[in-house]
Amino acid sequence: MFIPAIASRPSVSQSLVKELRNDVCPRRIYGAYVLGLPTVPTDSQLRGIYFEYKLTGSCGKSGIPPIEPLQKTGKRYVDFERLDGQAQFIREELFPYYGIEILDTDVVIATEFTHPDTDEIVTVKCRLDVLARVNNKLAVIDIKATGDVANGGWRNPIGLDHTQAYFYMWALYQSKELNSEGVMPEFYYIVADWSPRSDYEVIKVEWNNGSFWEVRHAATEAFDKMKSMEEQGFPARPSYQQCQSCPFQHSCTDKKQFKEVKVIW
Ligand code: SF4
Repeated sequence: MFIPAIASRPSVSQSLVKELRNDVCPRRIYGAYVLGLPTVPTDSQLRGIYFEYKLTGSCGKSGIPPIEPLQKTGKRYVDFERLDGQAQFIREELFPYYGIEILDTDVVIATEFTHPDTDEIVTVKCRLDVLARVNNKLAVIDIKATGDVANGGWRNPIGLDHTQAYFYMWALYQSKELNSEGVMPEFYYIVADWSPRSDYEVIKVEWNNGSFWEVRHAATEAFDKMKSMEEQGFPARPSYQQCQSCPFQHSCTDKKQFKEVKVIW
């Protein structure tokens, strides 16, 4: 497969940072982040997109309301029924309780850094699920859905990757249009569980002295990795799981057809 060079350098997003840190196949990254081709959502991502739509009415990047998958009999999956209940509960009971007032949804903002080594401009783009006021303070709310809120790291959020939160806070802090007061916004995750427990977590991430350096390091690291992958022609690095949801899965000759052997000790 011929992969041309990048015509214009794509902006860095928190999802690109995450994929690069997880060593996702460079050719897949080229398809998703340079060409902007859609990846196939996993079952879990599908539930997350559906939940965000139900809670905020936002259609996300696609601009199209998500289609709920149905059972062969035409009946609804119970997970989706529970997510409907969770969205109603959060909107009608949690939002008033925590003083959350939604200002806008699916807000795209960008900010720039000067690369500390090369002086190049690194653009960071952020797509905020919800722009809100929480007890009258400007805030970003990120909506998550999970099948197990107790074991997905949400009960021990210290260990979670906070780069996303810092990216969004910094971009909104810099936005003159959305933040005329120039205050550092607050950041919350609202996590809903679609299991029979119908549990939830509301988590606030605090900005700290190291947050700016983390944001700038993550952005420039991603920028450098993209440059290096471009120089190498975005080679394929197949892995069964990534290939199943890759935008090139029907044309890529390197696609992995079978699962890797799992090694245990
Ligand atoms: S199908 Fe697999 S190997 Fe090919 S580009 Fe996608 S992830 Fe990479």
